[in-house]
Amino acid sequence: MSIIPVYNCFHPVLKKKTEPVTEIDDGLVKLVDDMFDTMHKAEGIGLAANQIGVSKSLVVIDIGYYNEKYKGPPLTMINPVIEYFSDDIYEYEEGCLSIPSVRDVVERPKIVQVSFYDLNMKEHKIEADNLLSRVIQHEIDHLNGILFYERLTPLRKTLLKGKLKKIEKGQYQADYPMILPDGTFLPANKKS
Ligand code: ZN
Repeated sequence: MSIIPVYNCFHPVLKKKTEPVTEIDDGLVKLVDDMFDTMHKAEGIGLAANQIGVSKSLVVIDIGYYNEKYKGPPLTMINPVIEYFSDDIYEYEEGCLSIPSVRDVVERPKIVQVSFYDLNMKEHKIEADNLLSRVIQHEIDHLNGILFYERLTPLRKTLLKGKLKKIEKGQYQADYPMILPDGTFLPANKKS
């Protein structure tokens, strides 16, 4: 079990589409463990493998860890694919461990159906709505090299420009260790 630095959103590994997982071995099981540890430590509810520098189609989600009211189990999704998006769209504020200090409102479909494999290579197909649907869409976007600020309205994108420039330069220190776009290690903010 280890905490792994989270890659800054401007690092090239987050702009590249990830590769499918073809084999479940001990290394992958350890990677999933480390992803849960890293996500919990950083107080996130979802994490994609490329956010810790591993370009594989794999996400972990654990909404219940920080939301007592949420009853769903932690999820490990290998090679997830969204097979259905509902027509109804809703707005909700999102954040991202790769984009420290930014939260903004994103429009997304309310309901999705997603198929994926678990660590036993068993296939699942689930329907998700509300927060779970949103986290799944946000994380699968990561696997395809898409960051949530790319889905903002043009006005919101413009308003965010200056802040994103600062994040690119590593001027926001998070409460967890990060890797900057040039590969430099940025330690966690000790004050918090
Ligand atoms: Zn994210």
